[in-house]
Amino acid sequence: MARHCACCGKPFAPRPQVPEQAYCSAPGCQRARKRRWQRAKLQSDPDYRDNQRAAQQAWSQRNPDYWRDYRETQPDYVQRNRERQRSRNQGRAGDLAKMDACDLPTGLYRITRHPAFPRENGDSWVVEIAPLCVTCPCKMDMCKERT
Ligand SMILES: [Zn+2]
Repeated sequence: MARHCACCGKPFAPRPQVPEQAYCSAPGCQRARKRRWQRAKLQSDPDYRDNQRAAQQAWSQRNPDYWRDYRETQPDYVQRNRERQRSRNQGRAGDLAKMDACDLPTGLYRITRHPAFPRENGDSWVVEIAPLCVTCPCKMDMCKERT
């Protein structure tokens, strides 16, 4: 009787020794089966969870230099990480550059809390940004003649 693999969905014939077999014998599907089993076991079995954690800690203590050595022996990995970080940073700078492209010209501005939102409390204020007239004696908002 054909059965469909719980991972790849392809039909397969369960082995007679494993009548409940839910995954086909493809290596990827067997890895998926093991991962799912471990995840379920970690959630359902506190002893298994403790054992796994203890084993990982013991391994880290036996191999304290693993990651340092890994970086030293895998310059490609370090380089790749750096480049990924750099492109992430550039992504952010790109966003900032886009913000600079808005209509507000460079200059002096006065930021005041907007009167329509006098009682705003918390982390943010609603503000008004008014261009400031530095050359004009009024030293106040941009003169109407100049705009
Ligand atoms: Zn499969």
